[in-house]
Amino acid sequence: MRTVVVGGGVIGLATAWRAAREGVSVTVIDPAPGSKASHASAGLLPAINDQLYDQPELLRLCLASRELYPSFVEELEEFAPAGFRRDGVLDAAFDEESLPILDRQLAFQKSIGVRTERLTAEECAKLQPAFAPVVGGLLSPDDGAIDPRVLDAALITAIEALGGSVVRRGATRIEDHTVVLDTGDKVPFDRLVLAAGCWTHQIEGLPAGAIPEIRPVKGQILRLRSDVPLLNVTARAISKGKSLYLAPRLDGELVVGATYEERGYDETVTAEGTGSLLRRAAEVIPEVGALRFAEITAGLRPASPDDLPVMGPTTVPDVYLASGHFRMGVQLAPVTAVAMAAYLTDTVPHAATAPFTPLRFS
Ligand code: FAD
Repeated sequence: MRTVVVGGGVIGLATAWRAAREGVSVTVIDPAPGSKASHASAGLLPAINDQLYDQPELLRLCLASRELYPSFVEELEEFAPAGFRRDGVLDAAFDEESLPILDRQLAFQKSIGVRTERLTAEECAKLQPAFAPVVGGLLSPDDGAIDPRVLDAALITAIEALGGSVVRRGATRIEDHTVVLDTGDKVPFDRLVLAAGCWTHQIEGLPAGAIPEIRPVKGQILRLRSDVPLLNVTARAISKGKSLYLAPRLDGELVVGATYEERGYDETVTAEGTGSLLRRAAEVIPEVGALRFAEITAGLRPASPDDLPVMGPTTVPDVYLASGHFRMGVQLAPVTAVAMAAYLTDTVPHAATAPFTPLRFS
């Protein structure tokens, strides 16, 4: 079975790796693998976010992926380091009005069996001394983050080590069980996975309506640097009811994110985006101004018509879809990849993925 995966972001690469691991012959087609939303992403892996309170099916999907993460990383690290850290996520409130957010989160996490500790202001200051004074916090010790750039590189290494290939070209159309490349060359497939993020529906040659439109939601994100990490653990800083995430890497990088902007396919970075992230970071980390400026990046989150992920077979025989992971693609990569590999090997996919079939849009 020759399987072609169009799109080598975290979703396409993770799918290709899991399929290759199951003995499937895989080819990934992408002009620049790991260069789009996955490259911008902070890679935060918190147990929950505000989208999950009233979305039980999405919550089940996230929890399934969270459970899979450690073994997914362990198996991947047989090939290369994956940049995973699971040493806690701190949610810190910087004003009284943000405390009810923590109370709600604590009660919810406890109700779904996620280990969570309430921290006093002093305990937060001890854990994260670089923070401005906080009024209280929550520590989820079994959660963390992954560096998506390191993860994508490891996935490419693993795919190639298992005999798969990565073709650095763009796909333009699907024609008679072949993918037509921007060079005009054709790559034949028995099965095809479309995983080209918010560009997925632009690939031509499929019947109208077979692929839902995947909308881009722009996010600007900042990377700063110091020789020694300024923060000890991954954090979400909540002030005036709004959350800013802070992902410190062990090499001294600090990722600060992110904006949410509906601006079509615009990938420009702006002074306003940079300024607002820096201002908010400075409110919660007084010393942030002393860090070296490394990068401001814009990425396009792929959002489906109902803002939920889409994975599984389409109405077109042998054509599968894995996209629409919006703001949780890194978090949902393991469960998506395991489900897609099951489809590609005619086994039963993870039950949590059933509600996310592309057929819901047909
Ligand atoms: P992408 O990473 O966009 O990959 C799509 C790929 O398709 C690209 O490599 C592109 O080159 C390729 N492609 C496009 N057109 C073609 C074509 N015609 N032929 C071949 N290839 C093509 N998620 C989390 O879980 N945690 C976070 O903390 C987090 N933070 C984020 C912060 C920001 C600023 C942004 C933008 C996103 C964040 N996300 C986060 C969301 C996450 O990054 C996305 O959900 C995820 O990267 C989607 O992966 P993907 O592979 O579907 O898409």
